[in-house]
Order: sequence, then C-alpha cells, then structure tokens
Amino acid sequence: MTPELEKKYIEALNTALSIGENILKNGGSSMDAVEKTIIFLEDCPLFNAGKGAVYNDEGIHELDASIMDGKTLKAGAVASLHHIKNPILAARRVMDFSPHVFLAGPGAEKFAVEQGLDTVSNSYFDTPERYDAYKKAKQINSKNPVDQKKGTVGCVALDQAGNLAAGTSTGGMTLKKYGRIGDSPIIGAGTYANNNSCAVSCTGHGEYFIRYSVAYDVNARMLYKNQSLSNASQDIINKVLKKAGGEGGLIAVDKHGNISTPFNSEGMYRAWAKPGKREVKIYK
Ligand code: ASP
Repeated sequence: MTPELEKKYIEALNTALSIGENILKNGGSSMDAVEKTIIFLEDCPLFNAGKGAVYNDEGIHELDASIMDGKTLKAGAVASLHHIKNPILAARRVMDFSPHVFLAGPGAEKFAVEQGLDTVSNSYFDTPERYDAYKKAKQINSKNPVDQKKGTVGCVALDQAGNLAAGTSTGGMTLKKYGRIGDSPIIGAGTYANNNSCAVSCTGHGEYFIRYSVAYDVNARMLYKNQSLSNASQDIINKVLKKAGGEGGLIAVDKHGNISTPFNSEGMYRAWAKPGKREVKIYK
C-alpha cells in the first residue's frame, strides 16, 4: 500500500459514507442508503465489486450481491453475474419485483435485463491491478483461491424510522472456480438484517462465513444469548472464526445505532457516521 493509494481509498470511503449519510439525514430509508452507497462502491475501481472485481480461474469476472430489509425480512440476491453493471441493483430488483430471494447465473442475468438494468461486456470490470494479482496467483499456481487485496463492499444502515438494512457486493476471490459462489449473496452468511437486532455485512474467506452462518449468527447471539452487538460480532470474528482459520471481518449496526466493525485480518477498509461523529479507517 503506497501513501497515494491509501489516500485514494480514504477519499473513496469518505465519498461513499457521505452518500449514505445524506440520504439518512434527509429522512431517506436505510434500504436506499445501502443501495446507493453500494452502487458508488461498485463503480469505483478500487474495490472488489462491479468495476475492479477480481478474476476467477478462467480469467473472467463473476459477481455476487445481496440486500436485506430488516423491517420486512424481505431479501434479494444474485450470483455469478457476468454482464450486469450494478449487481446490487439486480439483488434489489429480485427482492422488489420477483417472488424469489435468490437468482443465479444466466437466469439472474435474464431477469436483470428484463428489469431494464444496464449491461456491460465482462471486460468492463477489468482493471490492471486485479489482472496483475490474477497473473501472479496463476504463476505461483496457487491451489487456493486468494484475495491479496480484500475489497468486497458492504453497507449497513439504520434510518430515522428505526429500520435496519444491509447489503453486500463482490467479485469473490481471485482464482475462484467458475460457478463458485461465496458468502456475499447468501442471506445469513454474508448479509443479514432484522429490526429486532442488527444489520450485518461480511467480508473475508467466504467458505468460512458460509459454514458459520456469520451474519445470522450475530443476530442470533443478540436475540438468544442477549449479547451486545459488540460482544456478538467480536466473538464470532475474533474467537470462533479465528480458531477455525477463517480470515475476515464484518460491519454491523444494531437497532439502537451501536456500531461494530471487528476483523481478524491485517486491515479492513471501513467507515461509519452517526450524528456528530465520523470515522474512516483501514488498519486497527
Ligand atoms: N467474502 C467474499 C467471498 O468469499 C470475498 C471477500 O470478502 O474478500 O466471495
């Protein structure tokens, strides 16, 4: 990480934060704050979602996203998209305009096109940085999908009406097998929101987040064990996942506006704001 690059990340995080903050300040919904913030992050080439997504084993991009409304427990998710410019919009359309929660592959793309969403060629998502990472991973013949630069994007929000929402969007992990789907589009693993507890979005080694139902586990610990948001999310990330060897972190907000951003990796790009307070950080 060079100082110039770090500056770019901090700037992008600040912009993303302001997008969500302004929507909420003006009385907008947490769902809209999450959607609009994630669209910006998908369009920003610095992050591993939308433009700037990592390459899979075959040298193309396969994108996953999900969104959940804590008020209704309605959710939408899409996986393995190749041509939809903003996967988070496709996830929201699945939630709002289909009887389903989760669409994948060509069917998900067909639905997104029918919904009038913008399509792009797969090479639109290319960036030289991600291509270098892919080439290096190929050279060392890495047996494991790797993600040297974590950059899955997520957003959680609590609005003035007391509604929570969470969303996540990703290109997954460099060198992932064609068709591999991580935790990000899986409700309960990478994303979860419930007005009775919290909203959660995860990043990290997806296979572990799926096995441990991480996003749902934070909610469950709060509801069934009466844990605080901070204790629940710290326990799962820094005790359970760490012991199991699952690297990553999460961002979460509870129904009272408490915020928690634990991670067991070296750093995690993150930003939060509440009335009168604001923080943007990369490392501990
Ligand atoms: N969780 C994502 C996945 O496994 C990757 C990441 O967050 O870096 O697809």
